Amino acid sequence: MITGKLHSIETFGAVDGPGIRTVFFLQGCPARCVYCHNPDSWTTTAETENITIERVVHIAKRGRPYYGKDGGVTFSGGEPLMQGEFLIEAMDALAEEGISTVIDTSGTYVDGFTQKVIEESQMLLLDVKHSDPVKFEEITGVNQDNLLRVIDMANEADKPLWIRQVIVPGLNDTEENVAELKEFARQRVKNLHKIELLGYHNMAIEKWDKLGIPYKLKDVKPMDRGQLARLSQLL
Ligand code: SF4
Repeated sequence: MITGKLHSIETFGAVDGPGIRTVFFLQGCPARCVYCHNPDSWTTTAETENITIERVVHIAKRGRPYYGKDGGVTFSGGEPLMQGEFLIEAMDALAEEGISTVIDTSGTYVDGFTQKVIEESQMLLLDVKHSDPVKFEEITGVNQDNLLRVIDMANEADKPLWIRQVIVPGLNDTEENVAELKEFARQRVKNLHKIELLGYHNMAIEKWDKLGIPYKLKDVKPMDRGQLARLSQLL
């Protein structure tokens, strides 16, 4: 029986897709983003918790009274596309219960299951870490090839894309960057649901320290809310 490698679960999630959602954060990610808030989700180890499809459905059903017409389940990570086979089975089982699924992805992983995962999802939340390929690689440690493939697959399936980008002071907190992101979406995305800017915070520093991984952005302050609101108005 297939199981998923689980990082954590959030009930009543209000920021990971439309409506109220149960969010399953899955373990494993090929990227190494400089500001990652879940560096403990990068690898899968012998201690990683496995979750069955039955348990996913059981937990998701508990939230059903709150989902309304827009809410449901979100699979996030880590990078959920690394567990495509599990996702397809989980989405099928959830669909049988009338619960729809959003995939929250960085687009840094693609395999033979990805197209079907995208086809079966309600929409994709796509974290575009940077629209410029060089800066994207500086932030994530991987190139943009898979991101572009994921966008192409979403276009082919005519899936709505909700593009997000974390805005980091000194890294991408400029009007030019927002204009570039808009242009990137305009040129590449067929069915754009919306673009959203998220403010950088440094609350993960403790996690990085615990794992003994040097945190390059130690001196960077959290994103100023006023500046984030001003940049968001340009969208
Ligand atoms: S894609 Fe997400 S989980 Fe993976 S390293 Fe980047 S921020 Fe962390």
